[in-house]
Amino acid sequence: MPSNPLLHFITKVINLEDVKVINYHFLTDDEIVIEIENKLKVAKCPHCGNTSDKIHQNHWYRVRDIPLSDYQVLLKVNRRQLKCKKCHQVFSEELDFIKARRTYTKRLAMKVIKEVLETNVESAARRNRMTTSEVETLLKELEVDLLAEKPKKLKKLGIDEITQLKGGKNYAAVLVDLETRKPIALLEKRNKAVIAEYISSLGLEVLSQIEEVSIDLWIPYKSLIQEMMPNAQIVADRFHVMKQINEELDQKRKKEKRAAEKIKNKKERENILAGLTQSKYPLLKKKENLNSEEKAKIESVEKVAPELGKMYRIKEGIRDIFDSPITSDEALYKFLEWTETAYKYFPKSCRTISRWIDEILAYFDSRTTQGIVEGINQKIKLIKRRAYGLTNFDNFRRRILLNWYFCY
Ligand SMILES: [Zn+2]
Repeated sequence: MPSNPLLHFITKVINLEDVKVINYHFLTDDEIVIEIENKLKVAKCPHCGNTSDKIHQNHWYRVRDIPLSDYQVLLKVNRRQLKCKKCHQVFSEELDFIKARRTYTKRLAMKVIKEVLETNVESAARRNRMTTSEVETLLKELEVDLLAEKPKKLKKLGIDEITQLKGGKNYAAVLVDLETRKPIALLEKRNKAVIAEYISSLGLEVLSQIEEVSIDLWIPYKSLIQEMMPNAQIVADRFHVMKQINEELDQKRKKEKRAAEKIKNKKERENILAGLTQSKYPLLKKKENLNSEEKAKIESVEKVAPELGKMYRIKEGIRDIFDSPITSDEALYKFLEWTETAYKYFPKSCRTISRWIDEILAYFDSRTTQGIVEGINQKIKLIKRRAYGLTNFDNFRRRILLNWYFCY
């Protein structure tokens, strides 16, 4: 039996709350088994809430923990079964540092996840002396834990789409709790049936609490929400409206460029192309955020492609409406006014706006989603870039969710 000071020292080093080291031995030259015991004698009965110290059975097993210096560590843990003195049921105690039925500590899981997200499964496995399939299992189990609890309270829901692969046409749907900003589901297909199935699994009690649903401008969502969430106001977030307007603006830029490339006169051709080159991002930016170089770019666009320049100003006009502290009634007049000038240049966006006017105006009343939807979208884009190359949806979804929880 090792000396008490040494055990006390190891207890300090492994640094787990309410845990005392009672023994240790070397399994191999660099692998150590540390036997620990719970300092708390009593545990709370999950059935009635009463505490008990009546041991029913000891249950010793080994779990892997984070390494200590160069030593791999296995903890020998006793998850005791106790008998409740009040309701007489037998229960297993909860241990803060290991989830039930897992063979690794929570902090090892965090370390591995972090390494997987920074590098890849293979190197994280190598570093932690696990096999790749053990790491895959760990990721899978963590995902299950993260999504295990369906929300019980949900007031503001966001539904958005993400393309799964770069340039791909496969959309996945992401559902986000807009209050906690956490994703609650990532569904492989964005179609009415798949989304309806998930939504109905939330249960009537949750669905009737939902006050607001922010969606992108996709018609099938609308009827789905009206049917399934009777108390929810549908909101078309400004982000989705601006996204469509920016797309139309960018299409015009491309069109101007293609037309210029066909010009026979070399000097004229080069002059126009020089004015248009690298104008994509300045055109999408808001005017207050342009630096002097970008301002100059917008000016040169206005010179060589006046119609595109005009479209930039019209786009900024609608952004101003969204930025103004006005009511939905005032916004309606502003939109009508805007549409009159804009229709010629942004026919598609204008049609969308008129089709979604109620939902767009609802944005002015709530404004609760301001910035959140855009932030979530940016985040997905970033994560997607990291997860690039994952063709298997399960892996893709896992990466997105784990990134979401652990990297931001
Ligand atoms: Zn009990």
